[in-house]
Amino acid sequence: MKAHKNALLLLLLLTVVDSLIVVSTPLLLKKIIDDGILKDDAGVVTAISLVVAGLAVLDAFTQLVQSYYSGRIGQGISHDLRVQAFKHVQRQPMAFFTRTQTGLLSSRLNGDVMLAQQALTTLLASATSVLTVALVLAEMFYLSWLISLIAVLTLPLFIVPGIYVGRRLQHYSREQMQANGELGGIIHERFNVGGAMLAKLFGRPDQEAAAFEARAGEVRQIGVVWTVYSRLSFIIMALLASLTTALVYGVGGSMVLNDVFRIGTLVALATLLGRLYGPITQLSSLQSNALTALVSFDRIFEVLDLKPLITERPDATALPVPGSGPAPEIQFDNVSFSYPRASEVSLASLESNVLSPAERAKGTPEVLHDMSFRVPSGELTALVGPSGGGKTTATHLVSRLYDPASGSVRIDGHDLRDVTLDSLRQVVGVVSQDAHFYHDTIRANLLYALPEATEPQLLEACDAAQIGELIRSLPSGLDTVVGDRGYRLSGGEKQRLALARLLLKAPSVVVLDEATAHLDSESEVAIQRALKTALRDRTSVVIAHRLSTIREADQILVVDGGRVRERGTHEELLAAGGLYAELYHTQFNRAGMNGSGA
Ligand code: ADP
Ligand code: MG
Repeated sequence: MKAHKNALLLLLLLTVVDSLIVVSTPLLLKKIIDDGILKDDAGVVTAISLVVAGLAVLDAFTQLVQSYYSGRIGQGISHDLRVQAFKHVQRQPMAFFTRTQTGLLSSRLNGDVMLAQQALTTLLASATSVLTVALVLAEMFYLSWLISLIAVLTLPLFIVPGIYVGRRLQHYSREQMQANGELGGIIHERFNVGGAMLAKLFGRPDQEAAAFEARAGEVRQIGVVWTVYSRLSFIIMALLASLTTALVYGVGGSMVLNDVFRIGTLVALATLLGRLYGPITQLSSLQSNALTALVSFDRIFEVLDLKPLITERPDATALPVPGSGPAPEIQFDNVSFSYPRASEVSLASLESNVLSPAERAKGTPEVLHDMSFRVPSGELTALVGPSGGGKTTATHLVSRLYDPASGSVRIDGHDLRDVTLDSLRQVVGVVSQDAHFYHDTIRANLLYALPEATEPQLLEACDAAQIGELIRSLPSGLDTVVGDRGYRLSGGEKQRLALARLLLKAPSVVVLDEATAHLDSESEVAIQRALKTALRDRTSVVIAHRLSTIREADQILVVDGGRVRERGTHEELLAAGGLYAELYHTQFNRAGMNGSGA
């Protein structure tokens, strides 16, 4: 709120002006009746009515400016929170994203920010109501202490049911939000491409519709109750307002008859009483608004308070820019690693969503054990081994998506924890097995790697990655939309496009998880050619599934059970007759005979 100090001060000033107008008109009405109408003075009637009308216009204007500023403050704060939270989530480690459902995150950054902002805006309005109520009551006591006493004694009748109804309303609002969120989750889960295909293949549409309908039924039920409660608060207020007006006119009327005061005072009192209801209603929801704001702020600050596991030391050194010297060497020194527990990386309040109780009790097993190897400058190391052995995990450590639990990963002797993240991400280029593209044009996805690249540069990279021909054959060429809901690239095409993106980035270290799917001998040859360009003069770690890649390697590491079991060249390992030889005979042999994919 500090950032909006000036706007807050201005808002306070406007509130004072508004309250003064609110309390001055009843006095003017009293004057019209007592000094104008009752004394047959047309001049006074005309003059004061004009003043009242003028004040009404001024008040409307004041309120307009007031609403602008309270909107600006509320929206300003929610904007700051949202942007801060977004930037903070960006800094979270990979482990956070594997452990956190995106939908839950977006409910914090959108839903809670909106709730907090609404609650805050009404809280600001409540604060201004306090001033109005105080002034109105003071004036009423000045006019007639007896009538004021009646009004004050009836106030609890407004406030108590107001608070009760407000709380129920808030409870049902939350339930409604929750249920709506779950409906959204079902839609997202069932109607994404993978989910929709699964449902079709398993032929379960009726069952899914029934589950959806059950949830939707809950939304309806809560919605009905919510509607009743939201009307109820108005009904109670209107009833009590009418009752007290009757009471004031009843008591005040007999006081006028007994000449305690004149009719002008009675009208002024009734008008003042009418001006109490609005602010009082506002105040009766003060507590529930404060609670809503607190709960939502709590949920937002939980995101802002996340401690990023992967951070940069203040004295971190920058690695040399790729291309400014020979490619760096990579070294694993006794590296052990286990994936972080959810409680270390995710929101504590979400833990029950991402972990079964059994998992929560146990912690995570060690995935890499005491792994040591060296990839000399410009050389290619191939990782091979059975699925689940830890190959992908080991490559995650090279780009510092995770830090080792013990031991160190080094580039040119620098522990990765001592280098700046920016320079590291520039030096290391990664093509993962299921390369991701944003739902955008091929051009935009490529420019992500090198924003200043020219069209010829883009096409050159595509040609080098053996994907240029395909792109040129598309009706929209580079402007074809790919990614989640765009043009469906095959697995091999995706990897080649990812290679083109990598070539544009021009890193000095390449980490590559070879595609295993979608391989025919034609794309095999294309990928082979693309790889040659991508890996030339670069230090590379490749998870290899193809014999052709493995044969190119300067060193082959057989990774199994999180350990390096064997190391050597293809010929050495074959001759040794160990795990590699076994793998070769079961997996690569056929591929080796016809020279194509595994
Ligand atoms: P490979 O690439 O050799 O097939 P991985 O490195 O993908 O093997 O997996 C090694 C082990 O780590 C597996 O037992 C796998 O279940 C586990 N694992 C992989 N990713 C995660 C993760 N995000 N969280 C927890 N465990 C994981
Ligand atoms: Mg893998």
